[in-house]
Amino acid sequence: MLNEARTFLHEPQDYQDFRDSALHQAEIICEHRGVRLTKLRKRVLEILWQRNIPIGAYDILDVLKKERAGAAPPTVYRVLEFLVENGLVHRIERLNAYLGCRRPAERHTAQFLLCRGCGAVAEMSDKGIDEAIDDAARGMGFELSNSTIELEGLCPRCRSRGAE
Ligand SMILES: [Zn+2]
Ligand SMILES: [Zn+2]
Repeated sequence: MLNEARTFLHEPQDYQDFRDSALHQAEIICEHRGVRLTKLRKRVLEILWQRNIPIGAYDILDVLKKERAGAAPPTVYRVLEFLVENGLVHRIERLNAYLGCRRPAERHTAQFLLCRGCGAVAEMSDKGIDEAIDDAARGMGFELSNSTIELEGLCPRCRSRGAE
């Protein structure tokens, strides 16, 4: 689990591969669901994938403003809502920020590891946790739409720094 966090956080090459495939996957997913990945939606997704960190709506807006006149907060929020609804992006409440999802084709509970040492974030993909949440919610007659878990702690790098 922690090894995956390290890979995700500290190897840009690996991250770039994911970025390219994420944009491609987004096109396929939207086509499959019959929803439109408009130019603007794709651009916002691209902006999110260009950085290896969760970013806020206003940071996205700053980038957009340089590219198109009339870019305003409601537009950005609507686009983000679309991306989150379609599982292409997750919203991290604690940071009030967004991050591209690495496995958008599968419906899942977003499981985030948040480092309180350096602020790094990694999405964990534990199927057992997914299933347990699904089962427990269903057991209470509850239908999940979006679910996110945010776990706070120390990343491998901060842990080894502490041990030095
Ligand atoms: Zn995800
Ligand atoms: Zn850290």
